[in-house]
Amino acid sequence: MTVATVLIAEDSLVVRTVLRRHLETQGYAIVEADDGHSALEACRETRPDVVLLDIEMPGLDGYQVLAQMKADPDLSEVPVVFLTGHTGADDLVEGLRLGAHDYLRKPFEASELIARVSAAARVKALQDELRRRNAELAVVSRTDALTGLFNRRHIEERLHEVAGAARRHDFVFGVVMLDIDHFKAVNDTVGHAGGDAVLREFAARTQNALREEDIAGRWGGEEFLLILPHTDLDGAATLGERVRAAVAASPFALDDGGALEVTVSCGCAVGDGFEPEELVKRADVALYEAKEGGRNRVVTG
Ligand SMILES: [Mg+2]
Repeated sequence: MTVATVLIAEDSLVVRTVLRRHLETQGYAIVEADDGHSALEACRETRPDVVLLDIEMPGLDGYQVLAQMKADPDLSEVPVVFLTGHTGADDLVEGLRLGAHDYLRKPFEASELIARVSAAARVKALQDELRRRNAELAVVSRTDALTGLFNRRHIEERLHEVAGAARRHDFVFGVVMLDIDHFKAVNDTVGHAGGDAVLREFAARTQNALREEDIAGRWGGEEFLLILPHTDLDGAATLGERVRAAVAASPFALDDGGALEVTVSCGCAVGDGFEPEELVKRADVALYEAKEGGRNRVVTG
């Protein structure tokens, strides 16, 4: 478990020192700021888990600091416990209205300080965990589990994105449809586990042959689609050839120690005002020609 960091934004040295002492006994890491501007700066630099925020400070007051934190996507979810010396309800209401997590009246009891800060730190830890899991889920939901490439749904989304960007910014892009040759025979020869191993190795060789901005996904079964932004038909054919050669270069190793010759056929097309579906259809027609022409080859459509 990592230590939570608390930013103490408070212009009174005496109050800061008392806060620091109490919180350090609980194991929190402490960062201090003595005015509103340096509080915001410290927030951006240290990304605290909790901010203890005094209302009355020189420069920016606590309300202004809170408003700026809420307007900053990187800081908006950091829980803020504001410190007030006033006894009326108005400043509490204003602080909570601006999105503060909690408040603490000065003078405070150590036990109350610790209870409120630890509750805020717990909320922050749960938020962080939720964000981490959501990020993991997002990756899982766009990944083909077997090959690690993008899945059909995501590659279609990306195709529409790239096609839209190409129209708006007037650039060409290529697509390449790949189909592993005689894959049914592969499955018949080495079984489904062996077939899966071939698909994984094929995906790895394909990914290695691509450039940074190229996008590869599993279209279905033994079919794969490449999207190549800013690439004309010659460029698409060159890339298809690079993948074809990488696949044919050496036999695929199998788990049982054997090896299998694998080849792939490629059909290329470029987006030049075509709808994405039309483009895929053109690549498919070229792929069909590559199959008809004897397989293990690249055809441009
Ligand atoms: Mg003050």
